[in-house]
Amino acid sequence: SAGASARVDLDGNPIKPLTICMIGAGGFIGSHLCEKLMSETQHKVLALDVYNDKIKHLLEPDNLPWHGRITFHRLNIKHDSRLEGLIKMSDLTINLAAICTPADYNTRPLDTIYSNFIDALPVVKYCSENNKRLIHFSTCEVYGKTIGSFLPKDSPLRQDPAYYVLKEDESPCIFGSIEKQRWSYACAKQLIERLIYAEGAENGMEFTIVRPFNWIGPRMDFIPGVDGPSEGVPRVLACFSNNLLRGQPLKLVDGGQSQRTFVYIKDAIEAVTLMIENPARANGHIFNVGNPNNEVTVRQLAEMMIKVYSKVSGEQPPETPTIDVSSKEFYGEGYDDSDKRIPDMTTINRQLGWNPKTSLWDLLESTLTYQHRTYAEAIKKVIAKPVAS
Ligand code: NAD
Ligand code: UDP
Repeated sequence: SAGASARVDLDGNPIKPLTICMIGAGGFIGSHLCEKLMSETQHKVLALDVYNDKIKHLLEPDNLPWHGRITFHRLNIKHDSRLEGLIKMSDLTINLAAICTPADYNTRPLDTIYSNFIDALPVVKYCSENNKRLIHFSTCEVYGKTIGSFLPKDSPLRQDPAYYVLKEDESPCIFGSIEKQRWSYACAKQLIERLIYAEGAENGMEFTIVRPFNWIGPRMDFIPGVDGPSEGVPRVLACFSNNLLRGQPLKLVDGGQSQRTFVYIKDAIEAVTLMIENPARANGHIFNVGNPNNEVTVRQLAEMMIKVYSKVSGEQPPETPTIDVSSKEFYGEGYDDSDKRIPDMTTINRQLGWNPKTSLWDLLESTLTYQHRTYAEAIKKVIAKPVAS
């Protein structure tokens, strides 16, 4: 449309339509990014993934307004010779592909390391060799634990932001011992970040690294036994949604004392769009993307989700709303946790003028409305069905 073609970047220059090779486009973040790019921009997307369930609504039917601007390529980047051709055909590559659920880090450390480091190597290499720009998805988990977590419990310094706020160009990366296999993911992500950074420094590759801080919203992960394995353990939003949908207590790992900041997926996607469309401001940078105003302990998250779910479903909260479970019982041997994650927003603010907007209550309200609408009936059927032996 005329409106779309008149869009300008942060420096007032008209935005040229790009062809984007999006790897992992069928996942949670990819699906929201594809939606945004189709409905609000003129860019083309080559969507690569092994699954496309979460973007089916963008691919079919043939008469969608963006028909022809998004094409799905079913492939596994571990072994597919089409990868280089698709990267060459594009102006920009965005790599989202990864194993990124904590339940896998200590139980499938080899797959985790291969997925987050080895499998990303050819993507970086093809971008560097063909002079293509890369936006690579890392994680806030590369920061690991806060410096403050090593101070005595009653130290007043624990209240000093210098000991916990995570800053792209200053904070160290602090992981647990090797036998705490939880850190296999963070460590693999750290090494791929260093490799990309080095490609920039030594070979002039144009790159942007994104460190998401707990992006949440509709289509995140799966509901066990409905659209994913019954024994599967997704990330906390889907775990708690599953418990709420089934009227079961929410499980608090090691007392639910860890702290997180949650950002609404739609706010975060705006940050990614700014990176895509303002290369001169985004290249060479690592960006925290999160909402420092939405901090809660996992216990507080559970309590808030129970209230919000009761409101949107009209159901009474369960009699036993939460139960404590040890991390060993829940995740198995080798689990460890990040204690606290407050993103410093200086860099993204300065470079892209981005700020998150949505409060935790509001983002949970829209997300749990979606969960209830999407899954409540399916769960009733699963519960009613006798378990196959
Ligand atoms: P997701 O699991 O929903 O999406 C990842 C997608 O990559 C999946 O659709 C998967 O099928 C695909 N994929 C994995 N391996 C592949 C392969 N070998 N070939 C082709 N496709 C493959 O996860 P997400 O939440 O959308 O995360 C995307 C990226 O952002 C990941 O790199 C993750 O580490 C990072 N991240 C996300 C968050 C968050 O808050 N959601 C936090 C930190 C980091
Ligand atoms: N967690 C929990 N109960 C659950 C699932 C997760 O208490 O059913 C905790 C987990 O131990 C961690 C936090 O919730 O402290 C966030 O977990 P998530 O899987 O979302 O990923 P993380 O933020 O650790 O990468």
